Amino acid sequence: MTTIYLDHNATTPLDDGARAAMSAAMDVLGNPSSVHGAGRAARRIVEDAREGVAALVGVDPARVIFTGGGTEANNLALRGTAATRVLASAVEHPSVLKARDDIDIVPVDENGVLDLAALERMLGADGADALVSVMAANNETGVLQPIAAVAEIVRKAGARLHVDAVQAAGKMPLDGFSGADMLTLSAHKFGGPAGVGALIVVDGLPLQPIVRGGGQERRRRAGTENVVGIAGMGAAASRARAHAETFADFAANRDMLERDLIAAGGMVYGQGAPRLANTLTVGMPGVSAETQVMAFDLAGIAVSAGSACSSGKVEPSHVLLAMGIDGAEAAQAIRVSFGQGNTMDDARRFLRVWNDIRGRAGSSAAA
Ligand code: PLP
Repeated sequence: MTTIYLDHNATTPLDDGARAAMSAAMDVLGNPSSVHGAGRAARRIVEDAREGVAALVGVDPARVIFTGGGTEANNLALRGTAATRVLASAVEHPSVLKARDDIDIVPVDENGVLDLAALERMLGADGADALVSVMAANNETGVLQPIAAVAEIVRKAGARLHVDAVQAAGKMPLDGFSGADMLTLSAHKFGGPAGVGALIVVDGLPLQPIVRGGGQERRRRAGTENVVGIAGMGAAASRARAHAETFADFAANRDMLERDLIAAGGMVYGQGAPRLANTLTVGMPGVSAETQVMAFDLAGIAVSAGSACSSGKVEPSHVLLAMGIDGAEAAQAIRVSFGQGNTMDDARRFLRVWNDIRGRAGSSAAA
């Protein structure tokens, strides 16, 4: 049985270009900080990758700080900031929400879209001491945040803006976010390897390293660079822009599936807001997300319950709870995320299996 992978928001297949770049980098001996020829060869790989990542966002390469993934980049943004107040939306990824204990949570509406009036109120007239962290696209629902409007409010208050663009990269153009003071990327969400990411930081922003030691990455992130991983990220970034251009095509699969699921009694979340084209969060009344994920797995389909980062836990998603959905209902929602290689047939097979699981659950409840 071939597995249908519908969990691209958890991680993506390694891009061929990234694999080739990593394989070549494995044969380069030097430490990028060494001044000899071998060191310079490794340095070249890192700097080429920096250019690839910078081009994806449309910023100067000097602004790119490589990190050990999206989680570390988010932690660096929130923990390294000089701001004394940090505000974040209620639907941020745990790597933002748990980065510090003193975050002021900005509420969202029933679609998971940030409440702009609440943000304005909470920032107050003088936000010079504040950092606002808002994701570009939600990992569970795909819902997009109104970053341009958020940026305007943040600027007016004199505060700083961090955008977690981990789920947006490779799925939509990122140029619109180049004005953020800090922006997070993670390679494995757009065809690169896991364990490497970047924080893109505007010039002159005070930011203390959270990983301390040597002076690498302009003194913002100590430690010998992960040359192989960075090479993979750079190559994947160079191709992610092209992927983003065709990504909207997944909306046809998703919308067809969504219509049929709703007709079959499924609960779809975040439908009333602009979303990533590939993402669908759907609840099956009366069947826990865990049961569904296992049943889909047995049928050769990979999907996830809530966010992958919190899988293994049975707690309902904090994202759905923040949208006002009650705990019992939220615990019945799974996430489907399409990506490279998925077809309409995959969506149809998902629907058949969904109906089977629902049918079995109905008959066992009736028994
Ligand atoms: N931010 C968002 C929105 C994510 O979806 C994820 C991972 O799922 C992360 C941050 C963390 O990235 P990483 O897996 O590279 O630590």
